[in-house]
Amino acid sequence: MYIEVNGISVEITKKNIKNMHLYVQPPDGRVQVSAPKYLSDESIILFVRTKIGWIKKQQEKFKNQPRQTERQYVSGESFYVLGKQYYLQVTYSYKGNSLVLSGDKAILTVRKESTVSQREAFVREWYRTVLKAEIEKYLPKWEKKTGLYCESWQTKYMTTRWGTCNVNTKKLWFNLQLAKKPSECIEYVILHELAHLKVKNHGEEFVAILDHYMPNWREIKKTLNEQILDYLGPVSKNE
Ligand SMILES: [Zn+2]
Repeated sequence: MYIEVNGISVEITKKNIKNMHLYVQPPDGRVQVSAPKYLSDESIILFVRTKIGWIKKQQEKFKNQPRQTERQYVSGESFYVLGKQYYLQVTYSYKGNSLVLSGDKAILTVRKESTVSQREAFVREWYRTVLKAEIEKYLPKWEKKTGLYCESWQTKYMTTRWGTCNVNTKKLWFNLQLAKKPSECIEYVILHELAHLKVKNHGEEFVAILDHYMPNWREIKKTLNEQILDYLGPVSKNE
């Protein structure tokens, strides 16, 4: 259940607990409250109101979180693939673009006069190939384990969420930026989105699914959100 408090959307989950808990989640500063079952919505709203200052401070902190600087796609830039750091080495050719990993180098071959956005478009599609291969590898494994099957899935460039799903059509979306993260993070997002096919919110039942199939999911989630996110630039139409 969602309620609006001072213009902030708050997700409320009622549980068999004694005290109220308030969370502000990275990376986008979503607000969640776990509240004892017997508490009225009014008292929850009152509680959240007294915490508005703190919530805004946390959200501000996430906003100012270090993100990767704007990519220029020039030699020496760091380049992440499946959790490993590489250094970009740009070479020029007119025979077509390519990106090859070799040792700690990511060798990007492009036309010399290509613009940053052309290089970015190529790299984004390269990441898409990497992510698709990971999902094709791990999604069937988690579907089989959990007995929760999606109808279809797609990759998409997103700036605030790692994944999302449509419960009615059973379609999942995965953030292209996951291709930069370790495989275990990708597996966690797969499990998370599959679990939503059974439980819409992040309540007790949802957490129980994660605990059952991936007991160390909290650790993995932390890794996922600790690592720097992409520069939040204008998103090209090729989402
Ligand atoms: Zn979720």
